[in-house]
Amino acid sequence: GLYRPGEDAVWVLDSGGVRGATANSSAAWLVQFYSSWCGHCIGYAPTWRALAGDVRDWAAAIRVAALDCAAEKNHDVCRAYDIRLYPTFRYFKAFTKEFTIGEDFKGANRELPTVRQSMIDFLQNHTEGGRPPACPALEPILPSDILSLFDNRGGHYVAVIFESNSSYVGREVILDLVPYENMVVKRTLDSDRAFLEKLGVTSVPACYLIYPNRTRGFVNIGKPLRSFFSAYLKSLPGVRKKILLSPEKPSREENVGTTVWREFDKARLYTADLESALHYLLRVELAAHRSLAGAELKTLKDFITLVAKLLPGRPPVMKLLEMLQEWLASLPLDRIPYEAVLDLVNNKMRISGLFLTSHVKWVGCQGSRPELRGYPCALWQLFHTLTVQAAARPEALVDTGFEGAPQAVLQTLRRYVRTFFGCRECGKHFEEMAQESLDTVRTPDQAVLWLWRKHNVVNSRLAGLPSEDPRFPKAPWPTPDLCPACHEEVKGLDSWDEGQVLVFLKQHYSHANLLDTYSA
Ligand code: FAD
Repeated sequence: GLYRPGEDAVWVLDSGGVRGATANSSAAWLVQFYSSWCGHCIGYAPTWRALAGDVRDWAAAIRVAALDCAAEKNHDVCRAYDIRLYPTFRYFKAFTKEFTIGEDFKGANRELPTVRQSMIDFLQNHTEGGRPPACPALEPILPSDILSLFDNRGGHYVAVIFESNSSYVGREVILDLVPYENMVVKRTLDSDRAFLEKLGVTSVPACYLIYPNRTRGFVNIGKPLRSFFSAYLKSLPGVRKKILLSPEKPSREENVGTTVWREFDKARLYTADLESALHYLLRVELAAHRSLAGAELKTLKDFITLVAKLLPGRPPVMKLLEMLQEWLASLPLDRIPYEAVLDLVNNKMRISGLFLTSHVKWVGCQGSRPELRGYPCALWQLFHTLTVQAAARPEALVDTGFEGAPQAVLQTLRRYVRTFFGCRECGKHFEEMAQESLDTVRTPDQAVLWLWRKHNVVNSRLAGLPSEDPRFPKAPWPTPDLCPACHEEVKGLDSWDEGQVLVFLKQHYSHANLLDTYSA
């Protein structure tokens, strides 16, 4: 996973943990369902960690959590919560007894301050079933209420944040002080100018403090920022952190052990990668769709047809794909439950001795860390293999409806990515590229080159980002050491010889280049 329990402030949930943590919890939750192979999730992890650290003191009211949907043990739970795209953000209210999949946080802007503000909005709207008991009132109080606070007899401090209607500072400070005793924080709006003038408020946000001995006045703080207000209030004499009966920390992740590195040749393709991709695609990615109908079902049928006809796989796997394709083609129904697909892949096939690996084993797609490379790498390889095989063996597509349609393979891959690929951002970018130029493809060879070019666009966009494996830097591919003939210098600049690139791609993604080493 991308988050370390104990090290990061993020609550790392596991399969039992989502329900265990959110059901009937006295706090609300914001859970990020992510996939550790999704580049965007990797890139976003520092923000999520920083957010969790920033609102650590809000934990009695609302908690920031994460669950890795790519971990095998979490597949079922992500399905139960209907997670189709990564990352998906869901809010869970306090005291939800019944099972619920939560409420989507849909904000397009996921910068830290925006998410923090949305957490506040969620808490404020959290009326049904009661707000978390530890969450103080977040609504502004009236000037008349402030006057009554002056007669402070509680023996504690009362801080009042004066602020504009659009400001979140007051609510943030209120929540920052949740675990502190001897301090009550309120907020009020700056709408009553006369009252403000009477108290001597010249600008907002500002903090007015009523001491336990009932003296009072404005706090002179270096900068009128949330962090300055909160730090000052926490530092006052007598203000201490409460000893909270903190709820159980979610269980620590088990030690996953060290994975053994498998030596491989980057000039070859590995059956283990392609079969692992198929396993993940059929048993995990599709599983997010409880039932398949209409355009989704058509996309699955077309995609399985392509794989069954074109993949240069091992005979038992090809037989399995062929049976799956025939079964899908013969279906009289226009809606099928996903379970039926799974049943076919798992049980019927095993009975007939046909078997698709039931766990991932990456070889050419190994990453130097478990969250790097893996599935998206093998999916690209599968896609390239399909375009190359369609160009090399057009006869394989006879009677499929794809024959003589040079864009058919790419259009099917495009629909697959749009419908089933869990990485939200990847799907969006791929669709943009397809809209831009896929209709210029006129031959199967052009389809091979189109996918190669677009993959290189993705490579350059991702170079240097946190999802890049330092052991496998993103660079225009094939690199000169893999294909010297593909490169030439034009006016001192490295340029492609596309004729040679096509020859190389057809060799690289050919049956002859596929190694069964490490396959089950
Ligand atoms: P990958 O880029 O996955 O490449 C896998 C293998 O393919 C390489 O090892 C190499 O052997 C071969 N290869 C590399 N380049 C080419 C090429 N041009 N032509 C043919 N073969 C090549 N991640 C994001 O963060 N943002 C995105 O928008 C995004 N979009 C994606 C879209 C799709 C359709 C897919 C399948 C993945 C996408 N990803 C995206 C994931 C990302 O592209 C990588 O797959 C991931 O970061 C793992 O990178 P990698 O180093 O294993 O190499």
